[in-house]
Amino acid sequence: MIIGGVEIKPGEEKHIKIPVAHLPSRTPINIEVIVARSLKDGPVLLLEGGLHGDEINGIEIIRRLLDNDLHVPEIGTTITIPVLNVFGFIHFSRDVPDGKDVNRSFPGSKNGSLASKVAYTVVKEILPHIDYGVDFHTGGASRSNYPQLRMSLPNKTNEMLAKGFHAPFSINSATIPKSLRATAAKMNKHIVVYEVGESMRYDELGIQEGISGTLRLLKSLGMRRDAPKAVKDSIHIDKMKWIRASASGLWISKVDNGEYVEAGERIGYIASPFDDYRVDIKISKSGYVVAVNNLPVISNGDALVHMGYTKQS
Ligand SMILES: [Zn+2]
Repeated sequence: MIIGGVEIKPGEEKHIKIPVAHLPSRTPINIEVIVARSLKDGPVLLLEGGLHGDEINGIEIIRRLLDNDLHVPEIGTTITIPVLNVFGFIHFSRDVPDGKDVNRSFPGSKNGSLASKVAYTVVKEILPHIDYGVDFHTGGASRSNYPQLRMSLPNKTNEMLAKGFHAPFSINSATIPKSLRATAAKMNKHIVVYEVGESMRYDELGIQEGISGTLRLLKSLGMRRDAPKAVKDSIHIDKMKWIRASASGLWISKVDNGEYVEAGERIGYIASPFDDYRVDIKISKSGYVVAVNNLPVISNGDALVHMGYTKQS
């Protein structure tokens, strides 16, 4: 296996720096890749975080895996990229400095803008080697996702990966055009997305779930033996819908992330800061809370709670 011009032989672990561009200061920017190959041939799994530079939970999940040598396979190979979008990471930003989203820039081009260059490097250097991958994300600013694995269904391989990972929620989610997941799928590589918490914030529950899920996935692929058992069933979500504000003011939520709510239940209310009105927010369909907006100041139409519905609901 050769990545970034460096050969990785069976039984070797290498930390490779792939040059991708320079900052205006001429500071070189690399994509840093840790490749761990076992002596025994087997599946190749990509673990990648920080495609959106301000989504820290995935970066921390991967850091802890590396810290405890949990990325080292007994069979097969792991390719680990803790921080894919270094530009966003150092700017506390989802995007690269020109405002482009790397996850809408695939398959990218060699001589394109920054986002396009990062995407191109992944497509050229990484994707040809992999069989499967986990792409780690979080919700956007102040929107917090309950730990969940997203994949496009129906698809036998994606179902197998979801079953292996066993996240609290397994969510059927169509691929977004020009995303890493969509481009990989075209190359017949299966990447699932693990989402937890919100940008620039740690979510300890979700970090733990991410580590446990990754270890279960490695075990299910036959790459490692030990993995923590999941305590609850993974709930399969077929459709999602944001419940939006029907008034402006302060949002007072009465639901917890991950909770099941019955049709007709009040999930919170919007109150005037001057105490001259209060509007209850109720839901019309039973389902699970898969994400919440933690921002208390909201305008009419803003997203409040992301509901997930099973096939039965
Ligand atoms: Zn993201």
